[in-house]
Amino acid sequence: MTDSPTELAPALAFAPEKTRAADAVEAARDEILELSHRIHANPEPAFEEVQAATWVAEAVGRHGYAVEHPVGSLATAVRGRVTGGKGSDGPRIGILAEYDALPGLGHGCGHNTMAASGVGAAIALAAVRDLWAGEVVFLGTPAEERGSGKAIMIREGLFEGLDAALLYHPCDRNHVEIAPLASEDVTVTFTGLQSHAASDPWKGRNALDAMIALFVSVGLWRQQLPTHCRVHGIIEEGGTAANIIPDRTRAWFMIRSADQRYYDDVMRGRFVQLCEAAAAAADVEVSVEFSGGASTMKHNRAIADRWNANALTHGIADEGMDPSSGSTDMANVSWVVPAIHPELSITEAPTPGHSTEFRDAAARPFADRTTLLAATLVAQTALDLLLDPSLVQEAWREFRGEG
Ligand SMILES: [Zn+2]
Ligand SMILES: [Zn+2]
Repeated sequence: MTDSPTELAPALAFAPEKTRAADAVEAARDEILELSHRIHANPEPAFEEVQAATWVAEAVGRHGYAVEHPVGSLATAVRGRVTGGKGSDGPRIGILAEYDALPGLGHGCGHNTMAASGVGAAIALAAVRDLWAGEVVFLGTPAEERGSGKAIMIREGLFEGLDAALLYHPCDRNHVEIAPLASEDVTVTFTGLQSHAASDPWKGRNALDAMIALFVSVGLWRQQLPTHCRVHGIIEEGGTAANIIPDRTRAWFMIRSADQRYYDDVMRGRFVQLCEAAAAAADVEVSVEFSGGASTMKHNRAIADRWNANALTHGIADEGMDPSSGSTDMANVSWVVPAIHPELSITEAPTPGHSTEFRDAAARPFADRTTLLAATLVAQTALDLLLDPSLVQEAWREFRGEG
């Protein structure tokens, strides 16, 4: 027998403290859910989350966090910090929140539930700060859907000094581990020469021809790609009138792979070649702009096990690795600090992400229950780390590949 709480079944560790955290989420339930619904009703795309960032900053500020908004170079990034009642000498745990929406779709990825649950977890941890030493760092992270805001925040040092980072994501299933693909947004712009499409077509250089050639060659390329790769895009500018030879077309592509090395060494360069070949075919100019992207993910089993143990006490069983992953800039975070990015169901399966069905589900009672549960589980898993620094050490040993 031992008195060490880590020797107990994980779900039983710090049970009274975790009950207090759950009670704190329940006490703030109206505030948390009102925030989720307000963000859902006012969707703002990547880098433009002006209202959501303000509401999130105000919410954590009301609960004792010292808030910086903006923080770093992103106008819609937020940082709030609170130290433990037992002193600042202890783990520094990052509680993350996303709040960007999808253009034309709204909160089809349910990030309103992420913003509200991140705030809810932060509220709960502040409410029980008499229990712990260390620091909770709330990070409002913009632009997950396009542009990888967390990658920018990493470069600006906003994840330095953290001992762990926790972020829940909504889904139609429950998975503690996902397998996000390396991914990058690419803007392709072809520039030609305008001309009357009937009277002087030979005087023009057709930027739409180049775009069509690119989509055809990408379609052919897909058949030769390994199954872990994805390439997909839309035409954002395709010309202005049928009787004008288009002098400018623009597409937004995303290229992805589960194999970071294959992505870096093969896909990027091959995609640029296809763009250049299409431009040569139509005798136009091309520019290819890569956004800087999301990476594959480094999992942390030590923290994930605690999440699973806490989730089990709420009747949530892990369904194993999510087989159908997109991409996330949380994966970039996972390479600089031990991190988890668990998914919880907000709706019946199957409901595809990035759809009107998923968007509508993100404001229903099922999603509200999950938002509160996610806040509770993030707070409880953070307590596992704050109350047991040996777990932090274990997470870092795993992160470094030691023993
Ligand atoms: Zn998402
Ligand atoms: Zn999404």
